[in-house]
Amino acid sequence: MTSNGTQLDGRDWKAMVIAAADAVEQQVDELSRLDAAVGDGDHGVNVVTAMSYARNELNTTDDPSPGDVMKILARGFLDEMGGAAGALFGSLFRVVGRGFRDADATDVTQLAEALGSGVETVMLRGQTSPGDKTMVDALVPAAAAATESAEAGADVKDALAAVAAAARSGVEATTSMPAFRGRAKYAGDKAVGVPDAGATTVAIIFETWAATIVERNDA
Ligand code: ADP
Ligand code: MG
Repeated sequence: MTSNGTQLDGRDWKAMVIAAADAVEQQVDELSRLDAAVGDGDHGVNVVTAMSYARNELNTTDDPSPGDVMKILARGFLDEMGGAAGALFGSLFRVVGRGFRDADATDVTQLAEALGSGVETVMLRGQTSPGDKTMVDALVPAAAAATESAEAGADVKDALAAVAAAARSGVEATTSMPAFRGRAKYAGDKAVGVPDAGATTVAIIFETWAATIVERNDA
């Protein structure tokens, strides 16, 4: 891979998204189990369907730009997944991709700005704030970590690690929350004690992105 420690190019983004598709596939049963505790138990299969579509498309797309990779990922969620979560993940990645414009490579500042806009869109469309026990509880701290990393002048590896760690802490915080959005709101107190499925998906994706870039740097 060609890009340096301060930027992610299209090949990096392609590798990151393909690796994330593999990671959610490995955790499909766990994601569905989390959703089954409070909802209809389809979350794992939903996310794998969306991301497998993106992986197939990317495997036959030569030299996509970072924005193209996000567009393809968004399409997987919007066209192949459906449901509330599909539309929200689709909007997230579509707005992130728009934020990348037609750049050949993205730095930490571009990542932080694009992720921040994407997370704002999810909160508006989902009418959700942190504390409602949704994907937003992982996304908001992750976007904040990206902004802090940009301000501190972190390289992409450290920035992605901080984003992933913040998302995972956000997931852990959802465990003790009752649910106020999505199907889980009908579960009442049954939701308490179970981390949110959509937030867990966010953490898996960002952790895989971070690990992919660590491997790139070690190569
Ligand atoms: P569905 O709820 O249609 O079965 P999934 O099971 O795939 O869809 O996704 C459930 C996840 O979607 C939840 O764990 C939660 O993170 C997320 N979610 C649901 N509704 C909202 C909302 N209004 N705002 C943000 N996230 C939401
Ligand atoms: Mg569900």
